[in-house]
Amino acid sequence: MQRLQGRVAAVTGGASGIGKASALRFLDEGASVVVGDLNPTTGEAFIAEALSLGYGPDRVRFTRVNVALEDDVAAMVALAVDVFGGLDVMFNNAGIGGAFGAITDVEVADWDETFSVLARGVFLGIKHAARQMITQGRGGSIINTASVAGLNGGGGPPPYSAAKAAVVNLTRSVSIEMAPHRIRVNAICPGAIATPLLQQGRKPLSLDTLDHFQPWPERGLPEDIAAAAAFLASDDSGFITGEAIVVDGGLMASGPAKSGVNVTAPKGWSGMNRGTTGQGATVNRRG
Ligand code: NAD
Repeated sequence: MQRLQGRVAAVTGGASGIGKASALRFLDEGASVVVGDLNPTTGEAFIAEALSLGYGPDRVRFTRVNVALEDDVAAMVALAVDVFGGLDVMFNNAGIGGAFGAITDVEVADWDETFSVLARGVFLGIKHAARQMITQGRGGSIINTASVAGLNGGGGPPPYSAAKAAVVNLTRSVSIEMAPHRIRVNAICPGAIATPLLQQGRKPLSLDTLDHFQPWPERGLPEDIAAAAAFLASDDSGFITGEAIVVDGGLMASGPAKSGVNVTAPKGWSGMNRGTTGQGATVNRRG
C-alpha cells in the first residue's frame, strides 16, 4: 500500500538510524524525500543506497543541514519546494546524545548545544515547515522525534531528557495553533532502538543488551519507528494531532518493575489484599 503517493517529505537526521529507516519507508510508500543531515559522508552513503534500491534524484535528495541553524532549515524546506513542488510531511528527527555527566559538572555551553540541536532544531523545523504548509493550504503532517527519556527521569542524561520533554510539550502546544490549517503535529517517543547513536562514546552499548531492555522479547529497530512515522505521515492518522506516541516494546509500561523489586505474586498465588483496613487478605493457591 502506498499511503504517501505524490506527497513530499523532509527528514532531518535522515542519513542514519531512525531517520534513514524512515526516509526509506517514506520512499517505499510513494513519497519524494529530502534528507537533511549534518554528516555529508553518511548522507552520500544514503543516496547511494537509495539509488541501489531504484530511487534516483527525481525522488530523493540529500542536503547538508545543521538543524540548529535557521538558514539551514529554511533552505532545506526551500529545496523540497524547488525540486519536488511543495512539502507535506516534515520529520524533525535529528539528534545527538548531548551533554552527559553529573548535573553539577555540566558546562553551560554543552547544555546550550544539547538544546540547540534537540529543542531549537525541532522548533525551527516546525516553524519553516508550517509556514510552507500554511501557504500551500493543503494541510500537512509534522512529526517530531522525542523520547521516552522526555517522559520520565532516568531515561537519559538530564539535559537530553529535558530537551526531549520540551519537544513533547512543543508538539502538543503547536498542534492547537496548526489544527485550523489541517496541519497535524505529533511526536514519537522511541524506547531503546538499535541505531549507531547508542554505539557512540567511551562505553558503546552492545546492541545485544537491547534484547533484554524491555518486556518485548526482541530489540527495537529503526524500522519500528519508521512504521510509526509513516502512519503519522499518512492520512491513516488523520484525526491524531498533539499526541506523543510511545514506541518502546512495553518499556514505559514496565515502570516500577524495572527496579527489580517483584511486586507480582509468586507463581500460582492469587487473591485480595485489603491493605490496612483491618479486614484480612484472601489468598488462593493453585496446585
Ligand atoms: P543516529 O545517530 O543513528 O542518527 C541521528 C542523525 O542525526 C545522524 O545522522 C546525525 O548526523 C544527525 N544529526 C545530529 N545532529 C544534527 C544536526 N545538528 N543537524 C542535522 N543533523 C544532525 O541516531 P538515532 O538513534 O537514529 O536518533 C534519531 C532520533 O531519535 C534522535 O532525535 C534521538 O535523540 C532519538 N531517539 C533515539 C533513541 C535510540 O534508542 N536510538 C531513543 C529515543 C530517541
